[in-house]
Order: sequence, then C-alpha cells, then structure tokens
Amino acid sequence: EAKSAGRSQIRYFNNAMRSKLKHQADIENDLQHGIKNQEFELFFQPIFTLNAPKVVSFESLVRWHHPRNGLVPPDQFIPIAENTGQIIELDLHILELAAKQLAQWQKQSLPSVKVTVNVSSRHFASLEFIDHIRTLYDKYDLNKGSLCLEITESGLIENLGLATKIIEGITPLGVQLYLDDFGTGYSALGYLHQLPIHVLKIDKSFVDQLTTKETPLIDAILSLAKSLQLEVVAEGIETPKQWALLKRKGCQLGQGYLVSKPMPSQQAMSFLVAQNTKP
Ligand code: C2E
Ligand code: MG
Ligand code: MG
Ligand code: MG
Repeated sequence: EAKSAGRSQIRYFNNAMRSKLKHQADIENDLQHGIKNQEFELFFQPIFTLNAPKVVSFESLVRWHHPRNGLVPPDQFIPIAENTGQIIELDLHILELAAKQLAQWQKQSLPSVKVTVNVSSRHFASLEFIDHIRTLYDKYDLNKGSLCLEITESGLIENLGLATKIIEGITPLGVQLYLDDFGTGYSALGYLHQLPIHVLKIDKSFVDQLTTKETPLIDAILSLAKSLQLEVVAEGIETPKQWALLKRKGCQLGQGYLVSKPMPSQQAMSFLVAQNTKP
C-alpha cells in the first residue's frame, strides 16, 4: 500500500512537472511572437522627492498585452525569460521602447524628464552592452543622463571586474546605475564599495516594516548610503506614516502607491505636469 501511495505521489509530481514545463514552453513561444508583434507596453511610476514632493523621474515597468491571457504582469514572464535566455532580447526591446518614449517627452518641451529601465544583470557580462546603450542615446538624441538603469546586485558580484568596466563605459553618457531591491540579496559591503553605482533602492520589504518602532535596518542602509555618497530611493511607500518617517530619517527620494501606481505613458505625463507645476 505504501508502495502504491508512493507511486501515485510520483505520478502527481510528474504531472505537476510536466504542466510546469508545458507552461514555460508556451510562454517561451509566446514571448518570441510577442516581441515581433509589439505586445509589450511600458508603464511609468513616478520617483519623487520626499520633501516637495516633485517628480524627478519615472521607473518604467513592462506589461504584456498577451493575445489570450490579457494584461500580464512582469513577475509572470521575466523569470521565465531569464531561464530561457530570452531576457537579453526582451530587455533590448524594452530599452528601445523606453528611449523612444523618453525622446518624445523631451521633444514635448520636458527636457528634464528621466526614465529608469530595469535590466537583467546578464547584460553586465558582455562589453557589447556599452554599444547598445550608446547607440540608443545617439539614435534618439537623448539628453545626457536621462535614461538610467536599474539592476539587482547578484549578477554583478559574480563578474565584478567586467561589470565595473561596463558601468564605466556608459557613465560618460551620464547613465546612473540604481541598485534595485537593496538589502534582499547578497549586500556584501565590500563589493558595494567597489561597484560604480549611484543610487540605492531600499526594498519594499524594509519600508513595510516602518512603524514607530525601532528601524535599525533602514537606519543602517541610510547611513551606509550617506558615507558612500549614494542617493537613496525608498520603494513601495503606501502610507503617509512611512513617508513621514523616511523623510525624517533623511531619505531623499521615494516611490509607491501612496503617490501613484505605474501608469500608461500619457497619464504619467499629465501626472508629472500637474504635480510639478503645483506651487
Ligand atoms: P522592481 O524593479 O523592484 O519594481 C517594483 C515593483 O513594485 C513593481 O512591480 C511596482 O509596480 C511595484 N510597486 C511599486 N510601488 C508599490 C507599492 O507601493 N506597493 C506595492 N504592493 N507594489 C509597489 P511590477 O511592475 O509588477 O514589476 C515587478 C518586477 O518585474 C520588477 O521589480 C522588476 O524586477 C521586474 N521588471 C519590471 N519591468 C521590467 C523590465 O522592463 N525588464 C526587466 N528585466 N525586469 C522588469
Ligand atoms: Mg526596479
Ligand atoms: Mg525593486
Ligand atoms: Mg523587484
């Protein structure tokens, strides 16, 4: 009896595996078509100064208009694209969309607007990436430093020497590097000191813990950023209390549903104009 129970568990496991693999294969196939058919749209979420508040930039966040499944959020396909290697092509496509949108805004007499784009740390394993970014700045005649990048630390640390070369290669364009989800990865401080990055994004999980109680981790991150002369963005601010505490602790920049969710481009632009012309 034990044997047959074991066997049925194996069968169950195999079925679950098979359907997971099938799902991945479907997505892989659909991603290929999706890029060709222009099914991806960028949404934009404001990054703002905690003091004013004024919008200083937008984070671009991809959405997929899937022909059968509707609007698909990135968590459902970015990890799969990472596994299949399609992330390289997808990210380059997204970078192009972001550059195109940014150029359009800059022509509409909003020269100071900035956009950050999330990219896989895989790009930081090949010097070609420098040319991709340089070409985008040339092709769309982007203002210096207006297109910036968000990366997580894990992939960078594996290949520190090369990653450093690549970051230094794009720094003359004014590209700033935002270290995303800071505090959730390796956070090896020795590496942090060596990486030529400009901004730390404190992960939402730390912001969630902001109550009136002691907040040693956020305090430590803020003081670390200060001594390394890095700017800080707090991610996922949802309450006025979190905002007030972050501001009091000296965090300069924030992002979160309290101010705005990610929005389609037109709405994002109206939001910026309305917010930044307020006295
Ligand atoms: P991320 O870069 O850390 O982006 C922050 C995520 O938190 C976004 O989810 C954003 O919508 C969400 N968020 C922002 N403020 C709040 C808040 O106050 N409350 C809550 N509950 N959530 C908030 P999203 O758009 O689903 O993106 C998820 C992740 O997918 C991103 O995390 C990023 O790692 C990845 N991703 C998104 N777009 C791209 C892309 O174009 N390329 C690549 N390679 N990855 C992307
Ligand atoms: Mg990000
Ligand atoms: Mg993040
Ligand atoms: Mg994230």
